[in-house]
Amino acid sequence: MRKIIKAFYNPFIQFYFNSQLKTFTKTKKSNSFLVLDIDNTIADTWTNLNGFKKDRNAFFLNLQPLHGTLNYINNHFSNLPVIFISNRNIIDYKVTKKWLIKNGFNMNDNLLIVTNNPIDKIKYLKYLSNNFEIIYFDDLSYNHEKGKPLFFGEVIDEVKKMNLKYYDYQFILNLNSK
Ligand SMILES: [Mg+2]
Repeated sequence: MRKIIKAFYNPFIQFYFNSQLKTFTKTKKSNSFLVLDIDNTIADTWTNLNGFKKDRNAFFLNLQPLHGTLNYINNHFSNLPVIFISNRNIIDYKVTKKWLIKNGFNMNDNLLIVTNNPIDKIKYLKYLSNNFEIIYFDDLSYNHEKGKPLFFGEVIDEVKKMNLKYYDYQFILNLNSK
């Protein structure tokens, strides 16, 4: 049932974020944008998955930031407007925004897009990379909690064909391991 609801709403959600993205990039008058994934890129999500079932809102709000990534982007790309593209349920949009504000992002200046499926990221990334200089951080991985990270290979293959600077799982892992 939930899948049917998702499938029904998804085109509307995509249409909405697509127009948000176009307005955002137009008003910023910038040639370059920083595109950030959230979970396991700037937020330490998978190590805390146990808390998800207990209290979904508290779980998302209290995620620890990944300081390695945040320091790196602050040192190298702090002048760029940020577009967050996160594969999270639309019902978690508000708490996701709250978390970003809590961790130092000005959400009047930046944009948050959520997707239903990592595949949905491709369309936004294509538009961005065709029109702007894009710096993109995204682990594009899952399954860590089961001991073996797996990858969204189909998305990674598409990203690699795009004209953008991609910082991947391994790079993010190195930034955050001491
Ligand atoms: Mg991620």
